[in-house]
Amino acid sequence: MCARSSAARPTDLVVVDGRIAAGPAPRGAKAVDGGGRIALPSLVDAHIHPDKTIWGGSWVSRKPASGIADYVAQDVELFRNQRRPVAERAYGLMSHAVARGTRAMRAHADVAPAYGLAGAEGVAEARERLRHALDVQIVAFPQHGVVRTPGTAALLERAAREGLVDMIGGIDPIGFDHALDEQLDLVFGIADRHGVGVDIHLHDRGETGLRAMRGIIGRTRALSLAGKVTVSHVFCLPGLSDRELGSVAADLGDQDIALTTVAPSDSLVLPVARLREHGVRVGLGSDGVRDSWSPFGNADMLHRAHLLGWVTDVRLDDELAECYRVAAHGGADVMGLDHADLAPGAPADFVLVRGECLPQVVVDMPRRDVVVHGGVVVARDGEFSTDPVAGGVTGTGG
Ligand SMILES: [Zn+2]
Repeated sequence: MCARSSAARPTDLVVVDGRIAAGPAPRGAKAVDGGGRIALPSLVDAHIHPDKTIWGGSWVSRKPASGIADYVAQDVELFRNQRRPVAERAYGLMSHAVARGTRAMRAHADVAPAYGLAGAEGVAEARERLRHALDVQIVAFPQHGVVRTPGTAALLERAAREGLVDMIGGIDPIGFDHALDEQLDLVFGIADRHGVGVDIHLHDRGETGLRAMRGIIGRTRALSLAGKVTVSHVFCLPGLSDRELGSVAADLGDQDIALTTVAPSDSLVLPVARLREHGVRVGLGSDGVRDSWSPFGNADMLHRAHLLGWVTDVRLDDELAECYRVAAHGGADVMGLDHADLAPGAPADFVLVRGECLPQVVVDMPRRDVVVHGGVVVARDGEFSTDPVAGGVTGTGG
């Protein structure tokens, strides 16, 4: 993947029917000059919350909060004070992510009686407008708890039954919902009945988090949902001894349960390499972006790859390049997408940047000059294109 400009020869990337093709460009193909830039696989945001964002709107000052219940109350307050509907805010953030080189995202949208299905419907509307530029999976996320907030389970079921969402979420079944078996039975029951996946937020640490993990692994096995379940954050794993981690990772690998991390800190980031030794798919994500929870976040997955390198204190070129691969291919694995690895047959999803080589790009985070999705130029000079152009691109093999 990494090729120093001094060593890399400029090459043509030929795109036919949205995929990289071997051989010369067909007659009449549209050419786009890549100007000798490095071509890199487009990125995948495996965990983001576009319904909560105030992206593109006025600054909001946040109030002190401690614990999920406080944050949830402030979410509702912010939602009610927003003049712009979810669809517009989500579209603003999602199109910005495209301009930063994101080809696909798994979007968690709050589902709770306070909103009904407005969050998921708004994200679905934004997804439709961006169909040519971005692949989106929507998770019905019970941010207010499944059991502690009556009416939520029925809304989750409706979202799945009506085909509005691809997955059903969950949240700290012990630490927040205080109903381990009840929440997991409800969530997995809906997934099983409607043929959708599961993606559960698990912040609980220590033995509490591990008990929830065992409940998730057990139900995945019992309902034959291998390959369809993801657990996000999973703060109970990084503190384990190597032997304990190996044992959980073996169970996850056995049931093909995927994990996502947002690389929040050195003590909470998932041990990606160790997990992958057991075949565990691990993706990287943004989480909330400029919402009531946090003023931070920018939906820029190159920046997130940089943060992964920063919090894990990497130095070596291979380690930096691996951070990029987690941000690109790790998320694709989690979402069940082909790798956009620029090989013949791969999706023609790539990003052109000025730079020397991939490790340097991860550190310097250059502007995404050209973003191509399915062979179509969807962003240029860091800006989302409202007038996309189809065609092959002449660039530099990355
Ligand atoms: Zn989240």
